Amino acid sequence: MTVYQRSSSLFQEANKVIPGGVNSPVRAFKSVGGTPVFVKEAKGAYLYTEDEHRLIDYISSWGPLLFGHAYLPVLAAVTDRAKKGTSFGIPTELETQLAQKVVSMVPNVDKVRFVNSGTEACMSGVRLARGFTGREKLIKFAGCYHGHSDAFLIQAGSGAVTFGSPNSPGVTTGTAKDTLLAEYNNLESVKTLIDANPEQIAAVIVEPIAGNMGCIIPAEGFLEGLRELCDANGILLLFDEVMTGFRLAAGGAQETTNVAADIVMYGKVIGGGLPVGAFAARTEIMQHLAPEGPVYQAGTLSGNPLAMAAGHAMLSAIETDNEVFSRLAHKANLLESGIHTVLSEKGIAHTINRYGSMISVHFSEEPVVNFATAAAASGPRFNSYFHHMLANGVYLPPSAFEAYFLNDALSESDIDFTIEALKSWNE
Ligand SMILES: *Cc1c(COP(=O)(O)O)cnc(C)c1O
Repeated sequence: MTVYQRSSSLFQEANKVIPGGVNSPVRAFKSVGGTPVFVKEAKGAYLYTEDEHRLIDYISSWGPLLFGHAYLPVLAAVTDRAKKGTSFGIPTELETQLAQKVVSMVPNVDKVRFVNSGTEACMSGVRLARGFTGREKLIKFAGCYHGHSDAFLIQAGSGAVTFGSPNSPGVTTGTAKDTLLAEYNNLESVKTLIDANPEQIAAVIVEPIAGNMGCIIPAEGFLEGLRELCDANGILLLFDEVMTGFRLAAGGAQETTNVAADIVMYGKVIGGGLPVGAFAARTEIMQHLAPEGPVYQAGTLSGNPLAMAAGHAMLSAIETDNEVFSRLAHKANLLESGIHTVLSEKGIAHTINRYGSMISVHFSEEPVVNFATAAAASGPRFNSYFHHMLANGVYLPPSAFEAYFLNDALSESDIDFTIEALKSWNE
């Protein structure tokens, strides 16, 4: 049995000065139990903990590290830039260079605004949609995550058809009434909300491939149907590609699904492991943004040179090695079939959802297609699975509601090691 003594004592110290000991809740292992491991360093596919254990990493910093940890081109770009000054609050050529890369790789966007996180990107994308349409309401899907800004921390209220209710203290009912909750993969639920709120809805925001309730694949016609409903009702379609952007393909889910959004939000891979978010759209929409237009948005560290350098190195690497996406999908496929075989041999009910390199394992035989079915498939069995894998050198996402993120440093023998580790699981 692996002992994480130093991690445990570091966690105790952290708890004295940081709420819950962490700066983002999922890291605290609340949903799987136990205490989190502390990382000392990481290289390629491996994390090395403060307890000197090596773990194969299946979260890759929750997505950004497409080529693995301490990827040399990103490291070189960042260290090089750091010597020239770390922040100016004055324009640099780097910002233009990264924006040019995004515009060249992503279909149907002309202009990009950089921010510091996916949360900021989604928050600002919605504000821009409201400013552009002159409407106030927003449709989101239960189980889709768009960061922690107030307008997204909403659950279905009792009058679900008319408005949502806050799902965190501190979110006001005033904010909640402008966010309407629909069900993922259910076009009818969207249509009902649109019909009940004629000419009031500014935007439909969606994770084109959902990754925050495990991985959930859009049903045939779902995204196309959203596009049609938006077009027919003067609503902007917002794709939250914070997870999928530059992970599924250079053009993200817009490219793989062949559905075009009006505003696209990025985060994670676009920063190569540094804090970067972005939102992008065609000129007609982006020209509404300050200072060109009236919709306000700003940031002291937005377009930070280290972050831009990291993002530029990452997107350049993707551009020169476009095969990375199919390699990642191949590795995810190996993982999927390995896990499926072992769980089947053990007679454990499971559903594995995979789209490219996004993958998640649900302990249920029912198809997992939306938040309700994902919630029904979580629970104690997942926790036992998670802790068994951790004790055997594999770091999985510490929550049944998170997708795995593979990186290209992961080798086929790492995947074999992972499958071997699963074989000794006694649930
Ligand atoms: C991670 C994530 C966000 C939030 O990004 P942060 O950088 O954590 O603020 C938003 N949307 C999706 C789909 C995400 O996966």
